[in-house]
Amino acid sequence: MADTSIRLYIPNLPPPGQAFSLSDGQAHYLANVMRLSEGDTVRVFNGDAGEWRAIAMKISRKSITLEALVQTRPPAPEPDAWLCFALLKRQKTDMVVEKATELGVSVIQPIITARTNADHVNLGRLRAIAIEAAEQCERLHVPEIRSPMPVMKLVADWPARPLFVADERRTSPLLGPSCGPSAVMIGPEGGFTDQELEAIARTPLITRVSLGCRILRAETAAIAGLALHLAALP
Ligand code: SAM
Repeated sequence: MADTSIRLYIPNLPPPGQAFSLSDGQAHYLANVMRLSEGDTVRVFNGDAGEWRAIAMKISRKSITLEALVQTRPPAPEPDAWLCFALLKRQKTDMVVEKATELGVSVIQPIITARTNADHVNLGRLRAIAIEAAEQCERLHVPEIRSPMPVMKLVADWPARPLFVADERRTSPLLGPSCGPSAVMIGPEGGFTDQELEAIARTPLITRVSLGCRILRAETAAIAGLALHLAALP
């Protein structure tokens, strides 16, 4: 019997005393990759239940049944920060989702702009990337991944939330730490068009921000911007 350091996101975690089965993917990973044995324990979590140590009650070729034993971390709020980023090619989009999750965002909103060089995403794949990143970086929440939206539509009915738009072409204040609900917006590899920047500028609660004196690749800008904005937060 071993207490492993494995962490699994279980969205609907039942209370102690109620056994639950893992998804096929999780069961395969624990049984065949991590070689879990009956009696071993793992950590299971979600944003509402916090994190619990759970014991492997039954392991068969096809399924694993666990039961929560003791809470290891109570539920806790995490930053309420959105990332709105212009879709990139698949590998770069995957990386942005993984790093944004590690950096603590609550919502990832892919946007389509005039110069975006991708307009389709596999949301299931991105959600799986976000779950794996949350498991690895010890978060309790997994960010919500929303369907891509045209930037003009998004800003046309922007909610009452401070919006920090990364604009590499103007002298703007450096993006600072988040101090409440916020959103960081990053443009495409070719930059926002003037029309897009004008439409974005009409958004209430907008601030144009710099990410430093160098022109960053879009994926670098997303990571650097979130690090500036969220690294100081719990
Ligand atoms: N106009 C850029 C150029 O000349 O290469 C292309 C845009 S840049 C590669 C991609 C996005 O990253 C920009 O739309 C902006 O949102 C963000 N970005 C990159 N460097 C930045 C900086 N130093 N300050 C603010 N935003 C930056």
